[in-house]
Amino acid sequence: MGIIAKGAKCNVNGCSNNGVRSLTTSKVEGTGLSISSTSKKTALCKEHYKEWKKATKQDREVERARFDRF
Ligand SMILES: [Zn+2]
Repeated sequence: MGIIAKGAKCNVNGCSNNGVRSLTTSKVEGTGLSISSTSKKTALCKEHYKEWKKATKQDREVERARFDRF
């Protein structure tokens, strides 16, 4: 549960929704989301979690596309 159980707000800059998921900050960095978290864990609201999932899915698809060329 961690930070979400404590009622953490979404760590995306400019977003003040309640966090629904906590993720390792390094996994959120580099996905296009601008986060203001300085701890190891980043809280994301429902909407930003959806965006994060979309972003990481795209990453995987790009990797697969690269792999398919071999
Ligand atoms: Zn958010």
